[in-house]
Amino acid sequence: MAYEATIGLEVHAQLITKTKAFCSCPNQYGAPPNTLVCPVCLGMPGVLPVLNRDMLDQAMKLALAVGATIHPRCKFDRKNYFYPDLPKGYQISQYDEPFSTGGAVQIEADGYKKSVRIRRIHLEEDAGKSLHQTDGSTIIDMNRCGVPLVEIVSEPDLTTPAEARAYLIEVRHLVRWLRVCDGDMEKGSLRCDANVSVRRKGSSEFGTATEVKNMNSIRGVERALAYEIERQRGILEKGGTVIRQTLLWDESEGVARPMRRKETSEDYRYFPEPDLVEVVVSPQWIQRISREIGELPAARSERFRREYGLAPETAELLTSDRAIADYFEALAKESGNPRHAANWIQGEVLRILKEKNWEMVSFPIAASELATLMKQVDAERLSLSNAKKVLDKMVETGKGSADIIEEEDWVQVSDVSEIEMAVREVLAKFPDRVQKYRAGKANILGFFVGEVMKRTAGRANPKIVSDVLKKLLS
Ligand SMILES: [Zn+2]
Repeated sequence: MAYEATIGLEVHAQLITKTKAFCSCPNQYGAPPNTLVCPVCLGMPGVLPVLNRDMLDQAMKLALAVGATIHPRCKFDRKNYFYPDLPKGYQISQYDEPFSTGGAVQIEADGYKKSVRIRRIHLEEDAGKSLHQTDGSTIIDMNRCGVPLVEIVSEPDLTTPAEARAYLIEVRHLVRWLRVCDGDMEKGSLRCDANVSVRRKGSSEFGTATEVKNMNSIRGVERALAYEIERQRGILEKGGTVIRQTLLWDESEGVARPMRRKETSEDYRYFPEPDLVEVVVSPQWIQRISREIGELPAARSERFRREYGLAPETAELLTSDRAIADYFEALAKESGNPRHAANWIQGEVLRILKEKNWEMVSFPIAASELATLMKQVDAERLSLSNAKKVLDKMVETGKGSADIIEEEDWVQVSDVSEIEMAVREVLAKFPDRVQKYRAGKANILGFFVGEVMKRTAGRANPKIVSDVLKKLLS
């Protein structure tokens, strides 16, 4: 009997804002425990929340980017539950009137494309963090209480762990591109819960879903889903029934363990948050945010192919990060050579970022400086291999390319008589190879070019070297 899985994902993204959702505490990660708190986010009696407008701007960017419908009015609700890291005893969230509904995320997995529908995006505040100690005790850090979140709920359109992975990568790409969330799953600023059910292939009814939590990497989500699908399939094959429950993924053991019976929405006793007024979203507000978003990655990738004649993979790579895309466009314009600009970024710039463990935003060489260096190569005043070394030295020393080229004496030699001298020396040194070349071993030419380059410390213009070699060997 064949089975198929149905997966829906709930992604929580911590929004990048100066302050928390309902108070003026800084929204920061990594501060000493319980230092970024105030009576409001600790839920002291008598305090009143004040909504952070920035939180709405950030959520709106994401909603517009996935093509969602932003509702002209929405409200906040209290979601009640008891947990040690929730001092108020409720979380301010949105229940029946979410910020936006609809929209879709385009994914590509295992070689096919698919549109994954978004059910809703709603706003809420984060809870604190329980830190379980090895001696069995638990300590609590309230810094995260009140940090603004969006929850992005997908329709159950995903059917395999690979699709879930592709979806998460796309959502992460999007939130990073829009700069609404840093997308760091290890830090917990992007989190994912999954609703999974399995049914017989062709059946019109969904199976009973379980919820899997506590996955803190994309790889973890993929593994946990594969595990849970297999577990449910095993139960169904033996004629058993899947119980509706919440499971916690244990990354080190590679198993998902039951945590509790799954709550239903009745368990949370939602009711409208009486301390906040409803949010009214004007068309002008939406227009302003639409302008701020600018071009989205898919559109930009398409334009790079069209405008600069880049290969699809290259355009994709250059739009994987907005800072890289911006740098490419600046470099293409400054150098006047988009294809070379793409090559320099793909080859050298990304290599340096990887070696240094830097993000593109911290790359210290301005596009105009790199363009100056590229022009030296185009004008045949510098060999490509030496130009790459110059870039490394620019990064290391902070000096300009002209100074480095002069200090290292790397100005390319294009003087034919000087090159001819070096070529004659090389040919005189390897008479047997000259004979072989003349006997038809044309690939020996590369060896001669290499020797001349060595003799000239990489400064000879390789094109002239090759021409002179051919002339003297004919
Ligand atoms: Zn606070």
